[in-house]
Amino acid sequence: MKTHFFRIFAVCAAAHFAAAALAQQDFSKVEIQTEKLAETVYMMTGSGGNLGVSVGEDAVFVIDDQFAPLTPKIQAAIAKLTPKPVQFVLNTHWHFDHTGGNENLGKAGAVIVAHENVRKRLSTEGFIEFLGMKTKPEPKVALPVATFTRGISFHLNGDELVVSHAPRAHTDGDSIVRFGKSNVVHMGDIFFNKLYPFIDTSSGGTVEGVIAAVERVLQVTSERTRIIPGHGPLATRADLQAYRSMLATISGRIGEQVRAGRTLEQVAASRPTEEFDAVWGKGFLKPDKFVEMLYKNLQKRQQ
Ligand SMILES: [Zn+2]
Repeated sequence: MKTHFFRIFAVCAAAHFAAAALAQQDFSKVEIQTEKLAETVYMMTGSGGNLGVSVGEDAVFVIDDQFAPLTPKIQAAIAKLTPKPVQFVLNTHWHFDHTGGNENLGKAGAVIVAHENVRKRLSTEGFIEFLGMKTKPEPKVALPVATFTRGISFHLNGDELVVSHAPRAHTDGDSIVRFGKSNVVHMGDIFFNKLYPFIDTSSGGTVEGVIAAVERVLQVTSERTRIIPGHGPLATRADLQAYRSMLATISGRIGEQVRAGRTLEQVAASRPTEEFDAVWGKGFLKPDKFVEMLYKNLQKRQQ
């Protein structure tokens, strides 16, 4: 269950460290599923953020690495595709369900690459306000050794992997990876497919930034592009369009009321998500929590 860990937080009232909460999760039953998307590109799912994997003549390149206890299972899934070890890890952002395998893969020799704010946030104590969750600084071996500000490209496995930063979206350190030849895009947590997304306001995330990043991806994709979301099933461009329209509609309704000085209770009573709940409201963020999150995000932008 990909979003299992959020349920742990829902039952813990006080702020706590991510590692302590995760110790309660049983990873032994998690299976890594592999789906081939193109000649050299795969999507892998287990628990935590979805992985993108490029495998071919040059190197194994992995986008995100879920949780530390899953590293051997992820390595075993990759070993079914190639005898090569993981040479590069790209973190789409700093959250622990996307970077938990960094320490193991770093120790095994992988070069970790990310936006500079990912390294900043992983190397200091963090706090995800909406989840009431503290994070500890990661050891040196788990930190990105190559960082960038706007973007970086990798010329590997007969493809061009174009990594570009999306400013102030899900966090302040998000990257989107486009596989030019394979026509695949990995969007990290800028895109939750069929789930109301979490936007980490306390890590510099904004709903406007998420929508802007989605619009950029819509411009460079086609009906045939396969889109890997941070959470949720593999997506098409039509799914991403539906996501954009859901986010723009709901945040537009809430934003208007925030500007009019309405309280969260008043906004919730107007049921701004109503017609979207059947499709998007069954994930870890229930409609009322999603409204609260957007309200606080938009209110902060007002101040
Ligand atoms: Zn995230």
